[in-house]
Amino acid sequence: MSDRYDLIVIGAGPGGYVAAIRAAQLGKKVALVESESRLGGTCLRVGCIPSKALLESSELFEKSIHSFAERGIQVDGSVSVDLEQMMKHKEGVIDTLNGGIGGLLRKNKVTSLRGLGSLEPNGVVCVNGDSETRIQGDRILIATGSVPSSLPGIELDGDRVGTSTEALSWPEVPEHLVVIGGGVIGLELGTVWKRLGAKVTILEYLPRILPGIDEQVAAEARKIFSAQGLEFRTGTKVTSVSADDKQATVAMEGEEPIICDRVLVAVGRKPCTESLGLENVGIATDQRGFIRVSASYQTTVKGIYAIGDVIGGAMLAHKAEEEGIACVERMFTGYGHINYEVIPAVVYTEPEIAAAGETEDSLKAAGRKYRSGKFAFAANGRARAGGHTDGFVKILADAETDRILGVHVIGTHAGELIHEAAIAMNFGASSEDLARCCHAHPTLSEAVKEAAMAVDKRAIHS
Ligand code: FAD
Ligand code: NAD
Repeated sequence: MSDRYDLIVIGAGPGGYVAAIRAAQLGKKVALVESESRLGGTCLRVGCIPSKALLESSELFEKSIHSFAERGIQVDGSVSVDLEQMMKHKEGVIDTLNGGIGGLLRKNKVTSLRGLGSLEPNGVVCVNGDSETRIQGDRILIATGSVPSSLPGIELDGDRVGTSTEALSWPEVPEHLVVIGGGVIGLELGTVWKRLGAKVTILEYLPRILPGIDEQVAAEARKIFSAQGLEFRTGTKVTSVSADDKQATVAMEGEEPIICDRVLVAVGRKPCTESLGLENVGIATDQRGFIRVSASYQTTVKGIYAIGDVIGGAMLAHKAEEEGIACVERMFTGYGHINYEVIPAVVYTEPEIAAAGETEDSLKAAGRKYRSGKFAFAANGRARAGGHTDGFVKILADAETDRILGVHVIGTHAGELIHEAAIAMNFGASSEDLARCCHAHPTLSEAVKEAAMAVDKRAIHS
């Protein structure tokens, strides 16, 4: 056995690398094992960051075509997409951030090991990289994340029929893209390729898009994105997809098949545990394969912990990071905390969609009495000045105590606006507290204040 560590972390995604750094800050000797050549996990390599790079670039392109002239900006000559350069920019962003994580690990003296990690008895992790090495840890933290799911009847060929991973790197703009799944990935990547010129059809099994998002917000989103040109077919059951090297055929129950040139399968993600050897040490998983953990993130085996996508719950990078920190702090200091009631979620379309806390549906299901205040961006001066009048802010507060229970925003920069509400919720604020805070004018944040005032039916500008 070459080396012994206080903690071995398997998986260098946002959960794993952040946990490794936090443990090192607490004075521990830490090793971080990652099978891929770039650090940062799904989030940096094939998730959050590349999708946002493409969303930003495609939005610039679309604005140059549809918004410039109205604002009195004339572009002489045509505007066109250089997809190779757009992808090069995206890869450059990933490389820079990958280098940044490497630097942080070195600064904190975390030993970074490249290779596939698997569990062996008595705290041993086998690292299978260029060579096979074994290291020993007093504690082990599994942060191996998730991989895309598929459906029966669909063979992912990595070309015509792919997942988000392929859809972040297609070499040409599809003529007709069919997306299976009207969730977050379907909307974000459907938006990217629509803006770049594809016809995009989104097939969703449920009667609505964006399950989990407040129903009124999801209905508004569908209206806005339909007007942008995305075609939605809800209540649609895909039965099979077949493809050759030129086109794909999507068969559905009770409907004519669609022939298209690319298919994006975006029907959720599943835990990544295959290569870990959970059975070697007896770690239990639930029915869907997620690793079972206690409130301290300990698995069914003493001394082995798990956090992030691999344990289920919201599959979000910031949730994985918070769990990584809380888990390590509980291990080494005895205390670590996450408020699972306020984990913000953002869909990075335009307008963005952001939420924190309860939805109207969840409050109704729980039989909890609440008051609702809503304020439309159409009545906000800053939104008008910027031409971003779609959407609204909705605040849900307890009918008796006025404590804010949920906040939902659909509108430009919703992903930034949500944090004002999330912080207020973390401090147990009432809608009255928020309504009485002075907000600078003209800002989009004033819509949050007005929604808080609307809970008490005293919004000024509506
Ligand atoms: P991961 O990021 O999946 O990292 C796990 C790491 O473990 C990987 O690097 C993997 O290579 C490594 N690994 C696996 N098995 C082994 C092994 N046996 N040995 C060694 N290494 C191993 N979330 C957001 O919050 N915001 C977003 O905007 C967002 N956008 C997304 C867009 C897309 C297209 C996708 C697919 C996801 C997006 N997500 C987003 C979700 C986010 O990426 C995940 O929730 C997050 O990455 C989970 O972090 P993690 O650390 O648990 O796992
Ligand atoms: P999702 O759960 O958001 O959406 C999957 C969609 O597919 C759902 O609407 C579901 O009803 C639908 N679906 C399932 N089976 C189907 C079928 N047979 N036919 C048609 N539709 C079907 O999952 P996703 O969009 O794949 O994203 C995976 C995870 O990645 C999510 O948990 C999400 O949190 C995370 N993610 C987050 C962000 C972000 O935070 N901005 C962005 C992308 C991905």
